[in-house]
Amino acid sequence: MTREQLAAAVTERLEQRYPNAKYELNFESPFQLLIATILAAQATDERINQVTPILFGKWPTPQALADADQTELETVLIPTGFYKRKAKAVKETSKGLLELFGGEVPQTVDQLVQLHGVARKTANVVLNTAFNIPSGIIVDTHVQRVSRRIGLTDTENPDQIEQELMPLVPEARWTQFGPAMVLLGRYTCTAKVVKCSECVMNDVCEKRYPPAEKVAKDTKETEPT
Ligand code: SF4
Repeated sequence: MTREQLAAAVTERLEQRYPNAKYELNFESPFQLLIATILAAQATDERINQVTPILFGKWPTPQALADADQTELETVLIPTGFYKRKAKAVKETSKGLLELFGGEVPQTVDQLVQLHGVARKTANVVLNTAFNIPSGIIVDTHVQRVSRRIGLTDTENPDQIEQELMPLVPEARWTQFGPAMVLLGRYTCTAKVVKCSECVMNDVCEKRYPPAEKVAKDTKETEPT
């Protein structure tokens, strides 16, 4: 099977298995999604969704967050982990929004990555999810790992993986492809366990996972419904 054929099979299966896949952070505006995505580094979406109502209740705008008292902000962000660094980051991002874009979240990757703490993944999350702009494919740690195991890429660099996936996946599917791969990686092809026998990719996947002693196969855990 060529890589193009493999990508077509993977894309089709993701669509069938996760037709409603979407990014799981809650938000009410592009600004909120931008900040929530920065906070989601090294934390679960569930944990961030518990914190953001408090955060945006106290500091609802870029100006308010840029002016927030550092200590008070850190206290609110403690549950997200790395709270000192994250408090500083979201203040800097908010300042950048004010200084560079008049407080509005820009709508291109090139503009978004000028902001503190914003790489391509975060830019794509905001554009795909908040603006419905298919700017690229979200490549987080799950997409990175699963793409390699399936055989869609040989690299570990997220930006390079995105560049390789984009010509392989139809543009109309970019927005859904990333979140669907995240679900596959979160529940079926996890960092520690591969459940190949119950995976929709079983017959097409190249199964390039690490040696058996590092990855347990086919445990009885099942995906939550
Ligand atoms: S078939 Fe196995 S290795 Fe391939 S994506 Fe599914 S769980 Fe991962």
